[in-house]
Amino acid sequence: MMYFDDFQISGDIKKAIKEMGFEAPSPIQEKVIPVILEGGDVIGQAQTGTGKTAAFGIPLLNKVTSAPYVQAIILTPTRELAIQVAGELQKLSKFKRTRTLPIYGGQSIGHQIRALKQGVHVVIGTPGRVLDHLRRKTLKLERVHTVVLDEADEMLDMGFVEDIESILKEVNHERQTLLFSATMPNEIMKLSRKYMNQPKVVSISKGDVTAPSINQVYFKVLEKNKLESLCRIIDSEEIDLGIIFCRTKKGVAELAEALQARGYMADGLHGDLTQMQRDSVMKKFRDSTIEFLIATDVAARGIDVDNVTHVINYDIPQDPESYVHRIGRTGRAGRKGLALTLVTPREMKHLRSIEMEIKMTLPSQEIPTIEDVVEKQQESWKQQVVKIIETNDQPTFFDSIVKDMLSEYPPEKVVNALMNIAFHREFNVEDDSYNFGDTGAAKGMVRFFINVGRNVQLTPKIIVDEIAELVGILPKSIGRIDIFENFTFVEVPEDSAPFVYEALRYSRLNGIRVNLEPAKPRPKREKKF
Ligand code: ADP
Ligand code: MG
Repeated sequence: MMYFDDFQISGDIKKAIKEMGFEAPSPIQEKVIPVILEGGDVIGQAQTGTGKTAAFGIPLLNKVTSAPYVQAIILTPTRELAIQVAGELQKLSKFKRTRTLPIYGGQSIGHQIRALKQGVHVVIGTPGRVLDHLRRKTLKLERVHTVVLDEADEMLDMGFVEDIESILKEVNHERQTLLFSATMPNEIMKLSRKYMNQPKVVSISKGDVTAPSINQVYFKVLEKNKLESLCRIIDSEEIDLGIIFCRTKKGVAELAEALQARGYMADGLHGDLTQMQRDSVMKKFRDSTIEFLIATDVAARGIDVDNVTHVINYDIPQDPESYVHRIGRTGRAGRKGLALTLVTPREMKHLRSIEMEIKMTLPSQEIPTIEDVVEKQQESWKQQVVKIIETNDQPTFFDSIVKDMLSEYPPEKVVNALMNIAFHREFNVEDDSYNFGDTGAAKGMVRFFINVGRNVQLTPKIIVDEIAELVGILPKSIGRIDIFENFTFVEVPEDSAPFVYEALRYSRLNGIRVNLEPAKPRPKREKKF
């Protein structure tokens, strides 16, 4: 194990690191700091939350002198990240007194120009605003010796590649260029070949792309019950702060509304919000005024809150990179984090492809039952009620209705009903799942009709394999299969029937568009055989 004292860096910086409470370098810091200190270009790859800022910040600050001009520039994808990186560098250089300045769009440019005039050593900025200053000649990069591209994958994703290239052209060729990223898509390698000089690549071993402190599981959910499933999951988890990811802005708005209506402290973050609204939501989240932040991938860029306990993928991420980014919002700074992914039957194949890329299989977990939720919550509900009883300062205006109800109904019934109202749950115990009615299936089974048959070369094996893969059931649990010329019947166990239905309704089998629906009961005479 290494210590910060082992690095060849100034005492001022070591003292600041100690004050920040960092005990030992994180894996990426341990590997990359000595390489950067040697000089030369370096690419550093490690997952979100692994301390990449200090990994480049420490050697960079060690190199900066008190000479009064801009010596280093750090480009970040968002304003939030610029501010955060500036904050971290300021702490690291507390005793060295390096002057750092974040510059980003949305803040008055006049203010930034004045600040730049006062003399700055390190500029941290978003590409657009940095270019703006270069064009106005209010920022000069001739004497910059170090350039950092931070969160490079996100910058490219956001379309900053041309801006970055224009900026790099303004900087002395004799510079040290550092590139940090959580993922390494091809475009990054392209950019590095063009603008970096034989970079050394340091990455935290590919096998563990995801941090070990993040526990990851998935839940198989029905599209139809997704919201209810989410509520059961969050009710049975110990969540301090959670980020819930949705695919679209509309999804964010709808889920935020649905959760608020059910009494959760939740708010949404998406691209249509003004910067002021965005800041206000983020403030509520940081202060823990809200428990859940609901966001799209894009809106979540630059969110960097240390004590997020849960990341919930309400909608499965589009690609492995996005999965890695999302779950990296938890388990930060060595804390434990939990990443939960909801997967509908139609998304099972997509989950498998993500698993291939991240080189791990996610264990699945059962959706908690209502009993689980009540069991989990009862202590907290009881405490809330007891607290009111014991402080004994209840207003008296309910007295007559209380008396009235207790004279008409047994107290258990009354309390039960009030608990239901108070805790926002209409616990309808009956399943709100599908009811396929009589499908003419064997006992305990549901029979489905598929609108193709031998005419598209359908075989029992194709059907069995597809169902087993999408629904995750054993081939032998699938019942009778009858393939006719133009249609097919298949029987599946009752409890997997909803999943089969959602997986295969309007889907493809053997590359052919098919539809599946509950079969009609067999005509009476058929039963005589
Ligand atoms: P990344 O850029 O890799 O996503 P950050 O640089 O934002 O990660 O670091 C995540 C958090 O970890 C920050 O709060 C940072 O202060 C903290 N951190 C960084 N290095 C260490 C360390 N060696 N020990 C403890 N905490 C650290
Ligand atoms: Mg970072």
